[in-house]
Amino acid sequence: MTKEELIANQKRAGRLLWWLLGIMFLIMIGLAHLIHATGAAHRDLAFRIALFVIIAAIFGGIFWIGKKTDVRCPACKKSVQGGIYAPLAIATGKCGHCGATLFDEPPTPETTSAARPA
Ligand SMILES: [Zn+2]
Repeated sequence: MTKEELIANQKRAGRLLWWLLGIMFLIMIGLAHLIHATGAAHRDLAFRIALFVIIAAIFGGIFWIGKKTDVRCPACKKSVQGGIYAPLAIATGKCGHCGATLFDEPPTPETTSAARPA
């Protein structure tokens, strides 16, 4: 994996999240119409079903995006995608869990000067 791949993956996760929000918005409008169309006797039930659908879609969607864009550390196999771990990995090139080097790219002047004895 290279740094560019992780950044591209990060952007993809963000795009998918916006898609999820857009789809959620449409689902909510649809459900609101459905609740409105339901007779007064069943409105409470329709509302509960709508709430369940929305919560299931949010959790399912986020879980699906997490699975789709998951990147794992080759050393400890933990995910470096999501939370603080993605920016940390992009900034340092190291796994936020175990510190292993993540990217297979040539060493930059920064890393070589840091390794050189003073
Ligand atoms: Zn690791």
